Amino acid sequence: MKYFSTRGGDQRLSFEETVLTGLAPNGGLYIPERIPSLPEGWRTEWKNYSFAELSVAVFSLFISPNEISAEELRTLVEKSYATFRHPDVTPMKKLNDKLFVLELFHGPTFAFKDVALQLLGNLFEFFLLRRNARKAVGGKQEKLTVVGATSGDTGSAAIYGLRNKANISIFILHPKGRVSPIQEAQMTTVTDANVHNVAVKGTFDDCQDIVKALFADKEFNAKHRLGAVNSINWARILAQTVYYFLSFFQFQSQLPASTSTDNAEIQYVVPTGNFGDILAGYYAKKLGLPIGKLVVATNSNDILTRFWRSGKYEKADSSAPVAEGAATPAQGSSDGKQATDSSGVKETLSPAMDILISSNFERLLWYLAYENAPGATDPEKHASACSTLDNWMGRMKANGRVEVPVEVLETARKDFIAERVSDELTLETIKSYYEGDPSYVADPHTAVGLAAARIIAPSNALNVHQIVLSTAHPAKFSEAVSRALEGLPGFNFDRDVLPEEFKGLLEKEKRVIDVEKADISLVKDVIENVAAKEVGAGAGAGSV
Ligand SMILES: *Cc1c(COP(=O)(O)O)cnc(C)c1O
Repeated sequence: MKYFSTRGGDQRLSFEETVLTGLAPNGGLYIPERIPSLPEGWRTEWKNYSFAELSVAVFSLFISPNEISAEELRTLVEKSYATFRHPDVTPMKKLNDKLFVLELFHGPTFAFKDVALQLLGNLFEFFLLRRNARKAVGGKQEKLTVVGATSGDTGSAAIYGLRNKANISIFILHPKGRVSPIQEAQMTTVTDANVHNVAVKGTFDDCQDIVKALFADKEFNAKHRLGAVNSINWARILAQTVYYFLSFFQFQSQLPASTSTDNAEIQYVVPTGNFGDILAGYYAKKLGLPIGKLVVATNSNDILTRFWRSGKYEKADSSAPVAEGAATPAQGSSDGKQATDSSGVKETLSPAMDILISSNFERLLWYLAYENAPGATDPEKHASACSTLDNWMGRMKANGRVEVPVEVLETARKDFIAERVSDELTLETIKSYYEGDPSYVADPHTAVGLAAARIIAPSNALNVHQIVLSTAHPAKFSEAVSRALEGLPGFNFDRDVLPEEFKGLLEKEKRVIDVEKADISLVKDVIENVAAKEVGAGAGAGSV
């Protein structure tokens, strides 16, 4: 299997090159050259597979065995998911006959990004070790310096994915004193030699600007071989397809015996920011998993909801010139997104979905363009889709908006529904599910999904069942959860919500490098100093 850029060109990359490259040089995202087919009999054969077994089965469709053998895949996958606290990795809970939550937060940092980042770290390490083993004795070893900025929500998932990995150093910049104490502790209590938390005196935007400038500095970039782990990396999407398959089987086994599984339709509701999580569901569906609609649930950063209403993909809402909350200062936007003018990002109670544009949406747009492309043959349609995408993305960059033809919007509506949820409704939803039977404490991101599910449910056919993806543990976003549930009879956050792992976290040993000014040269010094020490300590410093 080879991969190509959504914006065209002759480049065809192996899986390894795709994963190590991240973003294509022409600004596009890599997608597989074709959608593979599921093996005959997968429904019976895969039915009782564990998460790890399903991962190997699905990944093997997208990774040539001469790149990574099934046995190697198995080792990588088992290592990646051994860090999860639940034997199912992503367990599913039933809230009522028509509603389930798929919990994606049982990894080391209590949020869904662990599913992909635990794998990505091991893949990086696997590729680097193999490249280095092939080098002549004394040859220069390949290393990777991963650099990223975080507003607090997701930096820890990257750190836990890459901690203790051979040939990799990771530097995560966060705005000093502007992330919550728990988020800060989740990052800075990882004291492995290859993990470097950098607390910058400044804002999240300052941190992100510094990271962008580092990547743009050709000389520095080449010297340290900078790498990114942001959500456009193909391996992250691939890793996430697995829980759609797993939950499909979990769902079937939980249905009452009287319900025919052939008549029950699953609708997935996904709290969405950069469109990575739900895109994995789209790939699962394209592979042939028989599922119904995918529901894009956004907070008031609703570019995607507006797209499904109007066919306009635009940063600012042109139908409502004075957007709600437009005067709010930009803050708390999510990690690792591509360059945007963040001045329009609204601060919400679900900060990991605070985005202006959704970086992975480009991948869906490619398929929509392909399905509506003129041309009789696959290569013709393929070329047409790439040039359409290049054109759309060019307009997006120049004008901050693009409108797709009506038939493209119609195609998008076949597989997706979109719904926007306000902060107010998010809080109400947390409260209402806590008071429900069974009582369920949802984090604010999950609550956006639960609220969207509830809005849509009345218009669903009777055979439709909803699975809401639960993307974070409620303790991770304690402020919103406490706000929603405070004062309710019998509610006790420490007793009912706080996991053992969070207790005492604030008192644990920390390691952090302070940078006194938001100045790129100071951050460069930090990276240079660490690199110099590693050389001094001999090859392999920071390795397993
Ligand atoms: C990243 C994140 C999301 C959004 O996922 P996307 O793949 O960016 O759409 C939702 N909830 C939480 C808790 C997250 O960390």
